[in-house]
Amino acid sequence: MKIIGIGRNYSEHAKELNHALPAEPIVFLKPDTALLRGNAPFYYPEFSQDIHHEVEVVVKICKEGKYIQEKFAHKYYEEIALGIDFTARDLQKKAQEQGLPWTLAKGFNGSAPISEFISKQGLSLHQLPFSLHVNGTLRQTGNTEQMVFSIDYLIAYVSQFITLKTGDYLFTGTPPGVASVKPGDRLQAYLQDRCMLDFEVR
Ligand code: MG
Repeated sequence: MKIIGIGRNYSEHAKELNHALPAEPIVFLKPDTALLRGNAPFYYPEFSQDIHHEVEVVVKICKEGKYIQEKFAHKYYEEIALGIDFTARDLQKKAQEQGLPWTLAKGFNGSAPISEFISKQGLSLHQLPFSLHVNGTLRQTGNTEQMVFSIDYLIAYVSQFITLKTGDYLFTGTPPGVASVKPGDRLQAYLQDRCMLDFEVR
């Protein structure tokens, strides 16, 4: 399986990092070794001094497809989750300055903690609030209505280039409030009022 990430998909987050809004989705990949499941702890890596949390809605692809039309994209996912797109901001900045890929800044081991998936039935996906608390303090709040590119648009866009397969994950971008984590921090992510993720940084 593969993990597809989307950069700067919330305008307020793009602003906080001093980036312009993208005209087309910014797409990157993480390897499957980035996944952390079951609220496993995240071990702070030695190669970075600035790991940022990015809470995101994650969509699980349930059917193989390419050149998917936006109007049919909803048939390609049944379940959603919350995930953290951990980003080594120091490595990412360095790569950006040199015009180099983000691969190591985004794809390192444990950089994609993910919750259990829940059915999308009964959820209004176009207006879904979610949040991240660190040590009990609210750090990020978002709502899928603030996305620059909708979930269905992203699926249509990405599938022109990369075939989506059953079991692939799509991280749909983070709202504002990203900041550093440190060993000892406890991260809790909520979808509406439901705690989906609860794990520690060690
Ligand atoms: Mg992200």
